[in-house]
Amino acid sequence: MTTSRIPGFYNLTLEERRAKLADAADLSQGDLIPFTSPLTADIAMHMVENVIGTYALPLGIGLNFLVNGRDVLVPMVIEEPSVIAGASFMAKLARAGGGFTATSTEPLMIGQLQVLNLENIEKAAEQVLAHKAELLTYVDETESSLKSRGGGARDIEVRIIEDSPIGAFLVVHLIYDVRDAMGANAVNTACERLAPKIQDITGGRVHLRILSNLTDRRMAKATCKIPVGELAFTAQDGSVTRPFTGEDVRDGIIAAYAFAAADPYRAATHNKGIMNGIDPVVIATGNDWRAIEAGAHAYAARSGKYTSLSIWEKDAEGNLVGTLEMPMAVGIVGGATKVHSAAQAALKLMNVKSANQLAEIIVSVGLAQNMAALRALATEGIQRGHMSLHARQVAIAAGASGALIEKVASQMVQERIVRIDRAEEILRTL
Ligand code: NAD
Repeated sequence: MTTSRIPGFYNLTLEERRAKLADAADLSQGDLIPFTSPLTADIAMHMVENVIGTYALPLGIGLNFLVNGRDVLVPMVIEEPSVIAGASFMAKLARAGGGFTATSTEPLMIGQLQVLNLENIEKAAEQVLAHKAELLTYVDETESSLKSRGGGARDIEVRIIEDSPIGAFLVVHLIYDVRDAMGANAVNTACERLAPKIQDITGGRVHLRILSNLTDRRMAKATCKIPVGELAFTAQDGSVTRPFTGEDVRDGIIAAYAFAAADPYRAATHNKGIMNGIDPVVIATGNDWRAIEAGAHAYAARSGKYTSLSIWEKDAEGNLVGTLEMPMAVGIVGGATKVHSAAQAALKLMNVKSANQLAEIIVSVGLAQNMAALRALATEGIQRGHMSLHARQVAIAAGASGALIEKVASQMVQERIVRIDRAEEILRTL
């Protein structure tokens, strides 16, 4: 049985971490090999164009995650320090309230067809709807692979765009169940197949045929409840200690959320913090993080005013309750997911069996990461925790290696000056 609790993981050597991880995930060390030698240029050659090599990023493990009662060890690929530590710490606090409860909708994607040159747009829209059953059958007959897996065409919708730089036109939406795929290629193919039919029915010209990344029919939602007592802590700043009660921290987080709910300038950074948790898992599993980013921000602006993707409030017992609901179009088949051996290993590590299950883990990590940022901002400030980790990168950038990295970093943190010129000076004295 997998456990995501590995106390002292951060203190272990690389080899010890790998051994502990294999043990905790019930995997062989061989299963983890793709994480240390993931992608060859030979494979990369077949993934994109003009390849001359590959590019590596750190891969760490988000610990302590309990999602729908199941322990999950979360692979996270990211270059930014303190994200993995923050998410793991919040996941630990969330465990005390039962971990994360996550749900997701059916994997419904939206394909768009833009219909131009129509004499009567309303009439064309009605005609498309009148042929709905025939159109859905046509898509499923021509694209039988998704149908045979329990997916396929679900609905046809019409929208009239009244006001655009070229005037009014018709948009036809194909609602397509893509099961365990991200589905962009599948939707695009279906839209291209559908286009001549739509032209025949409407007498117009189908121009664009492409999915929408605002996948608001394919949503994932995570909630967590943190017992207020778990939030209490004492901040240490040199010799000064500053105690925070659970109520202080809870109310501070709620006030920080309120800022993001009301102000787009703050919401952009608040949501960036959420994506700090989301993107690393999306990348680790070979998914398209630009698609997830596009969907997230478009959804955050759905009311016409850009706002927070998450909600933080207190329940009747005074516990802190967080909710994150957002579009989540990720797959476990198709795209790069099967080609990239580390993506396969990532899915195996999490023991993920469906795209929905993956989406539910990803929003849970996003919520944990959001809470980590809000808790730091609402109490001791973001820089204290961040800077001690950032200091190591600055030390390396200044030329430190081996044991000197830690020495230079900790001196800079002590002095509260984390800058490359200072790192260079310290390095010279050492
Ligand atoms: P895909 O076409 O590689 O895989 C989907 C296919 O896998 C399905 O059509 C089906 O035939 C097959 N399949 C096998 N088992 C399946 C299962 N259990 N459930 C569902 N399908 C199964 O890839 P895709 O997911 O259609 O597209 C994803 C790729 O499209 C990504 O690489 C993405 O970067 C790219 N893309 C994105 C955009 C965008 O987001 N705007 C646009 C174009 C392409």
